[in-house]
Amino acid sequence: MTLNGRGAIVTGSTSGIGLAIARALAGEGAKVMLNGLGAADDIERTRADLAADTGATIAYHDADMRDPAAIAAMVEAAKAAFGSVDILVNNAGIQHVAKVEDFPADRWDAVIAINLSSAFHAAAAVLPAMKAAGWGRIINIASAHGLVASAEKSAYVAAKHGLVGLTKVIALETAGSGVTCNAICPGWVLTALVEKQITQRAAAAGRPFEQEAETLLLEKQPSGAFTTVEQLGATAVFLTSAAADNMTGASLSVDGGWTAR
Ligand code: NAD
Repeated sequence: MTLNGRGAIVTGSTSGIGLAIARALAGEGAKVMLNGLGAADDIERTRADLAADTGATIAYHDADMRDPAAIAAMVEAAKAAFGSVDILVNNAGIQHVAKVEDFPADRWDAVIAINLSSAFHAAAAVLPAMKAAGWGRIINIASAHGLVASAEKSAYVAAKHGLVGLTKVIALETAGSGVTCNAICPGWVLTALVEKQITQRAAAAGRPFEQEAETLLLEKQPSGAFTTVEQLGATAVFLTSAAADNMTGASLSVDGGWTAR
């Protein structure tokens, strides 16, 4: 239990990668604030199950990541509940797939707000106390699309490249303070976000879901295997460990070789 007494916020943690990172941090003893969309009953069940499974204190805040005031309120609520926010995982994200000329402006704004600007607002809210305490971890869930591009993902690629850039700036501004900021760049992970894309592609190609999943993997991910949410949870825990004390401004690819070619 390396994170006993630490307070953590994981944005977009009602499902997928965020929930697995919350589980991994709670498994190390951290008190975790969940956040994200969903039906109230489902979220309460998720919160209660995580608390029961890990024995950790688990809270939830419904801040919409498009709303800077709500993000500030979530950070204040976590401070009040836990005493401090020592770990911030900026994970909330959405996707929209369309060519630039067909990309709806409101989808562009939403992707940039949720996948990029929310990380800026949350970091700004937690950094003063982290610096004063002399310890803190900011972990930004970027993507292989933070390092390379794919067609029809303009907003997502722009947001994730921006998030990698923000990671480097926060690393420079916190260097030597005991606070680190790093990005994790997953390749394909089979979560709701990717299932939706595979379903759409399978329908368009007239192929079964499993076959389309294999095709999608082989286009980009030489390992031919999805990255798992558990692997990403363990990567986040590593970044909170003493082994990563002098690691900052880095982008860790967990992408089966996607960005190696
Ligand atoms: P997911 O859809 O399972 O999870 C997204 C989370 O963000 C959910 O909890 C959702 O409720 C939350 N969210 C969405 N809009 C929100 C809003 N307005 N306010 C608050 N929360 C909101 O998808 P995932 O695959 O687990 O994605 C998590 C992160 O990982 C995203 O940033 C995504 O870009 C990134 N990522 C995913 C993959 C992949 O292959 N799945 C690959 C690389 C990066």
